[in-house]
Amino acid sequence: MSVIKFGPAGLGPVEDAISNLEEYSRLGLKACEISFTYGPYIKNKEDALKIKRVAEKLGIYLSVHASYFVNLNSKDDKKLEDSKKRILKCCEVGNWLSAKRVVFHPGFYSGMEPAEASVKIKEGILEMQEVIKKEKWDIELCPEVMGKVNVFGSIDEIADLVRDTGCGFCIDIAHVLARYGRYEFEDIKKAFPQKKWHVHFSGIEYGEKGEKKHLVVPIEEWKKVFKFLKEIDKDIVLICESPETVSDAVVGKRIWEDYSD
Ligand SMILES: [Zn+2]
Repeated sequence: MSVIKFGPAGLGPVEDAISNLEEYSRLGLKACEISFTYGPYIKNKEDALKIKRVAEKLGIYLSVHASYFVNLNSKDDKKLEDSKKRILKCCEVGNWLSAKRVVFHPGFYSGMEPAEASVKIKEGILEMQEVIKKEKWDIELCPEVMGKVNVFGSIDEIADLVRDTGCGFCIDIAHVLARYGRYEFEDIKKAFPQKKWHVHFSGIEYGEKGEKKHLVVPIEEWKKVFKFLKEIDKDIVLICESPETVSDAVVGKRIWEDYSD
């Protein structure tokens, strides 16, 4: 059976970060993904170190979500370089925070065949890994499974990146539902044989083209996912990305505890 650390997407502004971590801890949450979706808003290294120390003391696993303004398959060289810089800046700040994973949306097909897009995205990841190694940052790049069919990031595309670059990964189970119209648990299991999983989950509204928006998680959806996670044996960080990220993470944790008894 899997072991799961639950946590919200979002730490809040710097001035509330410590009290929010304490609140998460009181609620029994053991993870938190800091949203640098509009850029790393923790600018000051001292602030980052304070947050890191409190998270460590409370046993809260930190990860980072990188900027949304990223396309590792951009045809525009400037945009491509900016994308790498944005992700790397999140790695630098993430390393101050002792976060071990930087989740990012790898890019778009940009009119290319998926295989061609994949080659270019791999190049970008390998290049960023060189910088991470050179800077001695202890952090892993985690491209995410994406929910829209016109966006790079199917289950197999992400698994290929992992195989060919040794990067980490983020399995967004709600995105899988939106992209494929079903959870595809067997494919997920096959594609990611690794023991450690970084998972996102939320309720989701979707149509033919995939994801429309994230929703509060219906209880039945938690149960479907937990049935799967109970049957496998993984070490999971599960970030709840619903609009009620904290309370939903707590609900998920309680259902899981009942379920895994
Ligand atoms: Zn994401």
